[in-house]
Amino acid sequence: MKKASACRRIDYPKPDGKVSFDKLSSVFISNTNHEENQPPHLKLKDPSVPIEVNLALYDAPEQRYCPAGVYEIVRDDAKEGEEGTNLRLQINAQNCVHCKTCDIKDPTQNINWVVPEGGGGPNYPNM
Ligand code: SF4
Repeated sequence: MKKASACRRIDYPKPDGKVSFDKLSSVFISNTNHEENQPPHLKLKDPSVPIEVNLALYDAPEQRYCPAGVYEIVRDDAKEGEEGTNLRLQINAQNCVHCKTCDIKDPTQNINWVVPEGGGGPNYPNM
């Protein structure tokens, strides 16, 4: 993976709702479901890496390569009208469609995908 400093930002067109769709609409169609209180199946080996390495050097690529919008950089201390400074990676594991891209593509192999409890995940009845 190239560092962000060596790349040009790509402005993708917004989904039109006819032939292209936003990630969360597609996750909804997959009937993805995980038990609410199960242990997280996406684990970080080192919780400091997403901000100190991935965001700093690669502009947090997990926000883009994950097809289900599971990873988001959020600001914990943001108040209305202010940006906030305390950055952290939020993992919306309940949306995961089990493609395992994050387990393979994370620049430092810091994300570990493990099998979720109870057969949770996407449900594609016609496959
Ligand atoms: S396995 Fe795929 S869908 Fe799940 S968090 Fe990783 S990249 Fe996203």
